[in-house]
Amino acid sequence: MLKESCPGSREIRNPYPEEIECIFCGTKNEIWSDEPETVCSSCGKTISRDLKSSCIQWCAFAKECVGAEKYERLIKAIKE
Ligand SMILES: [Zn+2]
Repeated sequence: MLKESCPGSREIRNPYPEEIECIFCGTKNEIWSDEPETVCSSCGKTISRDLKSSCIQWCAFAKECVGAEKYERLIKAIKE
């Protein structure tokens, strides 16, 4: 049987672009599904968003699942 990755980490392992509206000037910016924040292309301010609560927070294998670098970045972003 093939071992599938869990659905919670799929969007982090296979990031896709999403739209986020700048809270300062209303410009629509592109943000990747694994990015907790981006810089507005219009006003240059940092726009952050709430990351969906994720299995990354509690899964014992999260680090192996998404990779150590991404794991550290996401955990930091979720905690802030
Ligand atoms: Zn802006």
